[in-house]
Amino acid sequence: MKIRVQVIVESDNELGEIVQEIAQFERGQLRPEQLGLTLTEAKGLLGGLQRTVVERQIAEYSKQQSSCPLCDKQRLHKGAHTIVFRTIFGKIELSSPRLFHCQCQPQPTRSFSPLAELLVERTAPELLYLETKFASLVSYGLSMKLFEEVLPIGAEINASTIRNHTLAAAERLESELGDEQAFFIEGCERDWEELPRPDMPLTVGIDGGYVDSCERKGKKDGRFEVIVGKSMTAEGKSKCFGLVNSYDTKPKRRVFEVLKSQGMRMNQQITFLSDGGDTVRELQLYLNPQAEHLLDWFHVSMRLTVMNQMAKGLGAEESESRESALKQLESIKWYLWHGNVFKALRRIDHLEADLEGEVITGESSEKLRVTLQEFQTYIENNQQWIPNYGELWRAGETISTAFVESAVDQVLSKRFVKKQQMSWSRRGAHLLLQVRTRVLNEELREKFDEWYPGFNAKSEDQARAA
Ligand SMILES: [Zn+2]
Repeated sequence: MKIRVQVIVESDNELGEIVQEIAQFERGQLRPEQLGLTLTEAKGLLGGLQRTVVERQIAEYSKQQSSCPLCDKQRLHKGAHTIVFRTIFGKIELSSPRLFHCQCQPQPTRSFSPLAELLVERTAPELLYLETKFASLVSYGLSMKLFEEVLPIGAEINASTIRNHTLAAAERLESELGDEQAFFIEGCERDWEELPRPDMPLTVGIDGGYVDSCERKGKKDGRFEVIVGKSMTAEGKSKCFGLVNSYDTKPKRRVFEVLKSQGMRMNQQITFLSDGGDTVRELQLYLNPQAEHLLDWFHVSMRLTVMNQMAKGLGAEESESRESALKQLESIKWYLWHGNVFKALRRIDHLEADLEGEVITGESSEKLRVTLQEFQTYIENNQQWIPNYGELWRAGETISTAFVESAVDQVLSKRFVKKQQMSWSRRGAHLLLQVRTRVLNEELREKFDEWYPGFNAKSEDQARAA
């Protein structure tokens, strides 16, 4: 049999009704793979439909533009040129006329091109949205392959276009971010007291990771740091954020906006948990007067676990050394858990002396000594952020950013460090992080709705059905 698809367009003006054939299919004996449409046919069908719809829309628009809206006099043609407009259903060439302005009103120019001025971005917002969304989830190359496979526009899209569009969307997001401030605390204590009682505390975990740099000049700058964080309300609603600290000029504003969108109030208690790096600490200060900063127990205990492994590796003949080292590490952990930094540091000194004086010996003793020394510096540097973890834990408070580990994995690892050969510019990584976090927070669609008010328009039928 033969299937012919026709479109009927009913125009509102004198252009009247138009019937246009857009596709034809043939079907022989029924086979499973030929029941219904194939993807190729569907792409052709959609492409044809799109061309017809666009053509009619442009015809109607040109009709409206052909005369002066004030005095109804015909505008004179100065010429025309072709513009290319890309939609998810195909690349369409449009004739864009240049018209003389009517003389009834003073005009800054003699002529203008209404269509070219209307379609400033030569790509449909929906295509920009899809490109941005998928490129934030998978690589530019893989996004391209996906589009190639399923969309009529696919063959016209390449990875660098997707990258450019994605980064442009990110730049637009960046341009909307308010100014950086040293201090984000608004009002004074009296104002805060008058605020309604806030909800339960917010918990914000901040962590970092590294990605390979493609801008390396020497051996030293082969990687750069990316800061990733997650803020979580008491009900467990979370949002993530990310930034490249050596590129970002507004890190505090960025985090502040995320917290604000989570409903943060100035009288609300916030707990920041981090691994205590300088950049991270600097970032979280001055965002909220009620903020409490804690060294993340997760990272403390991770370091202790590593040293435990080393102690276990002291060697079979060194059972006394091993027992002693493990016992001392256990006691260091116990003191830290209870926030007794003073005693913990004394225990660290003691173990270090044992290792140096070869009271404790064995295969991995030197490695353990070096690691212990680093741990000592780490605890010393962060001592003012070490609380009584045990007490907080019993009170049901969050003391560990294990929940941020998943964010690091989600925001960073899966897109930025998945493959060894992936390397990034600071700008490229930072901008991509902005769209990626928007997508993960389910905010990108909202943004496009804001940028393009007709973006989410349903047809009247759909609206009625809903
Ligand atoms: Zn006029």
